[in-house]
Amino acid sequence: MNLKFYKKIIQKNRLNDYKEILLQAQKEGYVITSLIDWYDKYKGSNTKVLVLRHDVDYDYKGAYDMYKLEKSLGVKSTYYFRWLSVNDRIMKEMHDSGFEVSLHYETLATYAKKNQITNKKEVTKDVLHHCFDLLGDELKEFEKRFWKIRTICSHGDKVNRILQTTNVEIIDYTRLIDYGIDFNTYNPEILKEFDAYISDSSIYNNFEWKKFGAPAKAFNQGKKSVCLLTHPIHWNQNVVKNIQMLYTVYADNTNRGF
Ligand SMILES: [Zn+2]
Repeated sequence: MNLKFYKKIIQKNRLNDYKEILLQAQKEGYVITSLIDWYDKYKGSNTKVLVLRHDVDYDYKGAYDMYKLEKSLGVKSTYYFRWLSVNDRIMKEMHDSGFEVSLHYETLATYAKKNQITNKKEVTKDVLHHCFDLLGDELKEFEKRFWKIRTICSHGDKVNRILQTTNVEIIDYTRLIDYGIDFNTYNPEILKEFDAYISDSSIYNNFEWKKFGAPAKAFNQGKKSVCLLTHPIHWNQNVVKNIQMLYTVYADNTNRGF
């Protein structure tokens, strides 16, 4: 068997490690909260804040486990779900508990798959503008099914790598507010507000912390505003789920529509 897959199959539950990070932040006096709560109450303030963002690419059950842990510690966070990973019951419970639950959009990737766009040259200005309009329709659909949302977050599909164009590139910053959205998570104006922006990675990268480095480093250095991005799929697995996840990721990556 491919060594990579073997590694993934035996991936262990790491929720305790996640809990340790949150406990350390609490001990260091950080407020731990969602993106929108940070935006409304703490942006630019002197309060030490740890903003928790979760991109739920595949694993909504893993997201639920992270949510329960966070709730038990009295903290809040943000969960972005793809259309592929939405789960009404879990999302509603999170939302009712005061967590931010919103859309992990991938409009350009979806459009490219549907329309057999396979190279960067075909991603014209018109295509980008059209995708921004389509995003508006998606937001309406999401809000009709769920609730009013104020932030959104771009997902990176394999197709985006092929097209060398991210889903962020469809965003028209001046018009996003017309959709009732305050910001997308990759807005440079938002990103520059964080003294440390940290992202997790998969077992294939030995769970290395990307961008800034380990959360403990940011806490020890007393960074004021820390944004921690985690993907549930990298945190809480068992053998059966690991195999399910491998299959889900494979199906997602091979169903390109071209
Ligand atoms: Zn994603």
